[in-house]
Amino acid sequence: MTTNFKNTLAFAQEMDKNDSLKHFRDKYYMPQVNGKDAIYFTGNSLGLQPKTTKDYINQELEDWKNFGVEGHFEGKNPWVGYHHFVEKQTAELVGASSVDEVVVMNTLTVNLNLLMVSFYRPTKKRYKIIMEADAFPSDHYAMQQQARFHGFEPEDAIVQLYPRAGEHTLRTEDIIAKIEFCGDELALVMLGGVNYYTGQFFDLENITDAGHSVGATVGFDLAHAAGNVELKLHDWGVDFATWCSYKYLNSSPGGISGVFIHEKYANSPEMPRFAGWWGSDEKERFLMDKNFVPQKGAAGWQMSNAPILAMSAHWAALEIFMEAGMKNLRAKSVQLTNYLEWLINESGDLGIEIITPKTEKDRGCQLSLLTKENGKELFKKLQDAGVIADWREPNVIRIAPVPMYNTFEDCYRFVEVLNR
Ligand SMILES: *Cc1c(COP(=O)(O)O)cnc(C)c1O
Repeated sequence: MTTNFKNTLAFAQEMDKNDSLKHFRDKYYMPQVNGKDAIYFTGNSLGLQPKTTKDYINQELEDWKNFGVEGHFEGKNPWVGYHHFVEKQTAELVGASSVDEVVVMNTLTVNLNLLMVSFYRPTKKRYKIIMEADAFPSDHYAMQQQARFHGFEPEDAIVQLYPRAGEHTLRTEDIIAKIEFCGDELALVMLGGVNYYTGQFFDLENITDAGHSVGATVGFDLAHAAGNVELKLHDWGVDFATWCSYKYLNSSPGGISGVFIHEKYANSPEMPRFAGWWGSDEKERFLMDKNFVPQKGAAGWQMSNAPILAMSAHWAALEIFMEAGMKNLRAKSVQLTNYLEWLINESGDLGIEIITPKTEKDRGCQLSLLTKENGKELFKKLQDAGVIADWREPNVIRIAPVPMYNTFEDCYRFVEVLNR
């Protein structure tokens, strides 16, 4: 880690001055607390609103106003093929080999369940699912019900990964050992790419290899990874993934979700899936034919026509990611989080422990602070001082300095408040 950090406001401001991405903060609306910019460290929960979002949404409202149904074909951005407007950016964001590997549709947990239809095909012998014990509740619920749906008991079918005693995060070697232990009973590995609670970024490539080596399918929930870390889903051989767009991707509350399906399934019309007209061959869609022929790639998993307003908000947000570049964002992110971590560690005993991995390759921008006592009180005080962070029961404060719009000065001011 860089050790030439300084615990002064002047140093933080100097870092901001030299930040080649500093002007991106101005592309977002910063929430106000007590008449001042908040220290907004919750981009991992709900990203901020780009100033351009309104224009993108208004364009579609205008076309709806002026064209009615003809907006599907006559609008500036014809709605009929709207998902194509965001496919290139999406492919780049997650490291897909081509636009065929991605599609934007539905919402995250819905997609998680839909993808299970295709990728969780248990047999009497091979039916187990490996996931983190501290996975997001929605993922637990989905997996449990998927197991039940296929006639298995969740307690038996779902293998949960726990950290070793006295540790907070998972060791890759332990994840791989568990995969090998399950062996030919293992149907699916399903982890969060970045764990929402600890902020741990898993070694997706090696986990994918391990899963495949025992004949299992490997998928990731990238809710906390997309827009946070660099992803190479295609090269890593990941079978499928899905993520939401309202966290790091700033695409509006409850915003639309993205899906990755590896190209090896691109031409598998026989693959079991739930279907609807939007997944069928685009040229034949309006022939109203009864025979479902899925279009190629991930787009063949679409069911309904796209929610244009949510898609347009996503489009606006993705354009800014393309402009900034994930590589640049990640480089700044590493610095920003290292600085925040360093400042916290510099502060001496604050009654908190950072449970996020210390090495930068094992985390994104989030730090999870385990409070030893009076955590909730501390959290309230942070709030009163203009910090917008995230409290997770029973005792964790999650803070995420987001490279897109957070500054080194935010980090400095946060730790100043923390010390107070
Ligand atoms: C945020 C998040 C969700 C939320 O799911 P929605 O379907 O978008 O409400 C699910 N899983 C994980 C891992 C998350 O971080």
